[in-house]
Amino acid sequence: CADIAMYRAKHDGRNNFRFFTGEMQAQSVRALQLENALRRALEREQLSLHYQPQVSLQTGRVIGAEALLRWQHPELGQVSPAEFIPLAETSGLILPIGEWVLRSAALQLKAWMEAGMAPITMSVNLSSVQFRHADLPALVSRILDETRLPPNLLELELTEGVAMVDPLGAIAVMNDLHDRGVRMSIDDFGTGYSSLSYLKKFRIYKLKIDQSFVRDITDDPEDKAIVSAIIGMAASLGLQTIAEGVETAGQLDHLRAMGCDEVQGFHFSRPVPADAFAAFVQAALR
Ligand code: C2E
Ligand code: MG
Ligand code: MG
Ligand code: MG
Repeated sequence: CADIAMYRAKHDGRNNFRFFTGEMQAQSVRALQLENALRRALEREQLSLHYQPQVSLQTGRVIGAEALLRWQHPELGQVSPAEFIPLAETSGLILPIGEWVLRSAALQLKAWMEAGMAPITMSVNLSSVQFRHADLPALVSRILDETRLPPNLLELELTEGVAMVDPLGAIAVMNDLHDRGVRMSIDDFGTGYSSLSYLKKFRIYKLKIDQSFVRDITDDPEDKAIVSAIIGMAASLGLQTIAEGVETAGQLDHLRAMGCDEVQGFHFSRPVPADAFAAFVQAALR
C-alpha cells in the first residue's frame, strides 16, 4: 500500500503529492503507535493463540493444529497479525513474542494430550528473524524438554522467502532442527520464488499449498494445474501436502481427487480458542 502511494505520489501532480504524503504519514504514525503498544502486549497478556484444525483426507480425522497469534488491544481492538507481525520483525520484538508462541503452543498440545486427546501435531509459524537467530535450535530443544513433548509432534512453518534469502544457512539450520526430531513445512508454497532445486536439499516434511491457488480451484484450469503440479512434485520428492484456505465442499472434492494429503480452512473451522478446538476434535470423533 505504501508502495502504491509512493508510485502515485511520484507520477501524479503536485497537489496529489501532498495528499499522499499525508496518508503515508498517517500510516507511519499508526505503525509507531502499534509498535509501542506491542512492546507491552506480552506482559499485559493481550496476546493469545487460536488454533485451526488440519484434517487428513485419508481418514477424515483431525491430525494437527496450526497456532495463530491474536492481539487484542483495549483501545485498538483486534489487530491483525498481517499488520503487527511485520512491526514485531523490524523492532526485534518477534524474538520474545515468537518464544512465547512456541512455548504456549507446546504447553497447549501437552495439556490437550494430558486431558485425553489423541496425539496430533502442532504447527507454529516462524518468522525469518527467528529462523536466522542463532539460538533457535537450542530454544526449540529447551521448550521440548520443558514440556516433555515428543519432537515429531512439533512442526515449524517457514515461508519460501525465509529459506531462499540464505539457502546454505537455511540448510544448516534445517539439518540441525531435523536432527532434533522437529518437522518443517513450507508455508504459502507457490507464492515465493523458491528454486525447485533447493527443495530437495531442504529438510522439509510438508508443503502448504497457498490459499490463493485453492480459492478458484473449481473454476480456474490454471490454478487447478498448479495445484496438481505441486501435489505431483511433492509426491515424487516424498513430501506431504496440505491445502490452505479450503472453504467449500467443491474445493475439497477437487483436492481429494488430486491426491492432496491434508486440508485446512473455514470449511472445517476458523482458528478458534483452545477449548473450542478441543470441542471440535471431540465432536468430529462422534
Ligand atoms: P498463514 O500462516 O499462512 O496462516 C493462514 C491464514 O489464513 C490465517 O490468517 C488464517 O486465519 C487464514 N485462514 C485459514 N483458513 C482460511 C480460509 O478458509 N479462508 C481464508 N480466507 N483464510 C483462512 P491469520 O491468522 O490472520 O494470520 C495471517 C498470517 O500471520 C499467517 O499466515 C502467518 O504468516 C502470520 N502469523 C500468524 N501467527 C503467527 C505467529 O505466531 N508467528 C509468526 N511469525 N507469524 C504468524
Ligand atoms: Mg502458517
Ligand atoms: Mg499460509
Ligand atoms: Mg501467510
